[in-house]
Amino acid sequence: MSATTPLISDDALDIDTFLKTSRFAALPPAFYTYLQPTPLPSPYLVGLSVAQAEALHISPMQFDRSDVIGLLTGSLVPATASPLASVYSGHQFGVWAGQLGDGRAILLGDAIDKNQQRLEVQLKGAGPTPYSRSGDGRAILRSSIREFLCSEAMHALGIPTSRALCVTGSDHYVFREAPETTAVVTRLAPSFIRFGSFEHWYYNRRHEDLKTLADFVIEHYYPECNDTDNPYQQLLAAISLRTAELMAQWQSVGFMHGVMNTDNMSILGLTIDYGPFGFMEAFDENHICNHTDQQGRYSYRNQPSVGNWNLHALGQALLPLIGSVEDTQAALANYAKSFTTKWAELIRKKFGFITPHETDKALTDDFFTLLQNNHADFTLSFRALSAVDNHSTTNDNALLDLFIDREALKAWLERYRERLNLESSDASDRHARMRATNPKYILRNYLAQNAIEKAQNKDFSEIAKLLAILEKPFDEQPEHEAYAALPPDWAKHLEVSCSS
Ligand code: AMP
Ligand code: MG
Repeated sequence: MSATTPLISDDALDIDTFLKTSRFAALPPAFYTYLQPTPLPSPYLVGLSVAQAEALHISPMQFDRSDVIGLLTGSLVPATASPLASVYSGHQFGVWAGQLGDGRAILLGDAIDKNQQRLEVQLKGAGPTPYSRSGDGRAILRSSIREFLCSEAMHALGIPTSRALCVTGSDHYVFREAPETTAVVTRLAPSFIRFGSFEHWYYNRRHEDLKTLADFVIEHYYPECNDTDNPYQQLLAAISLRTAELMAQWQSVGFMHGVMNTDNMSILGLTIDYGPFGFMEAFDENHICNHTDQQGRYSYRNQPSVGNWNLHALGQALLPLIGSVEDTQAALANYAKSFTTKWAELIRKKFGFITPHETDKALTDDFFTLLQNNHADFTLSFRALSAVDNHSTTNDNALLDLFIDREALKAWLERYRERLNLESSDASDRHARMRATNPKYILRNYLAQNAIEKAQNKDFSEIAKLLAILEKPFDEQPEHEAYAALPPDWAKHLEVSCSS
């Protein structure tokens, strides 16, 4: 080992000081219920984000300790923790669903990371809460591995998201469509407050509590709103901007959330509550990743407008604080513009253009039409586009091979090259820029499925391997070429649903 290799600190994790009382617990008692997690029986480590552990000053070696695993599976609750489940409501599939709440997620407390960022530490799947309704409070191994991997993959793609520290599993069974073993994801975010947290107080006509929540959110997450005449209006406008930008980022990598109910929408514009999500493979703008969503409310194409619908639901809830319908509408009015601005910026990068040009929209729209008509793989197409030459057709084949109508693509590529040559774009510089924005490795369903099947047989090596690959989605990683491959035939029939 060279003298400059950074050493991982193996200082013992002090379980008694790791967690601080959650800031969320400063809200009045009506906002949550204190409770103890229900320990996962005989737990073991399934997956670990070393990056996230180190960010929390925990050496990966510490995860061999039974007390650390106990902390992360609910059997050891330190005195400094204040486990609680919070209440919220929401619109599910466009219909008011009334009270929901943390039915299986328990907030243990807050941790401070290396950047002095305060993060809520939640155990998802740690047993029933007063908000479990008919649920068992558990999460199955399959969906927990998916949430764990995707949280970290999205972070590596540069998309705002809750993070995941680890997955712990158990041989304890619960019933879904079939018996499945259970797991806990330890997940982290500055806040898990949702649009539905506000809707809860609005629909219960408790405007004092609504104000308390808005003041709490402004104080801790949007303090700049206090510098304006109407801080609540500014709060809504700020959440609208973050949501619009998040939607543009999802669309730009082909991420589909699957259940964009208002209770799954973060007030910080983070991707949260991973369930039946998917990444676009064979491009189809109408693709529905959630088998339960038969109408396609949350299809790829619909995500940006659903983001707007959800913001209107939030606006309705904030109306008593903002004061007037006009001011509420004004706060929401910029959504389409914010989305389009961010989308245009991301698209420009995806196509490798340096400065905007008036023909860009038509040209890039036409590429999406080609993707749609050919059902070409979204990720591989942009990656292959990153490699075509500025002046010659020499490197076109990898891209052409993804399309059925090669002639149509060739014609488009001529226009593309004309466009590239409008600016003095050096090919190797453009390739590098495009590779840094068009990922090679995404969490394809079949990759997750392979890791899950091995884990169900107690082989967790594939989870670690896949995570390591997904942590560097833009790198070539030639030794892992197979992980960038098109899905095998069996994977075309993989279905994911709300049941998790
Ligand atoms: P989701 O769409 O998965 O975010 O969940 C919607 C609501 O159902 C939330 O209130 C969850 O806490 C609750 N929920 C989902 N699965 C379970 C479960 N197994 N046990 C208890 N509550 C659950
Ligand atoms: Mg949820």
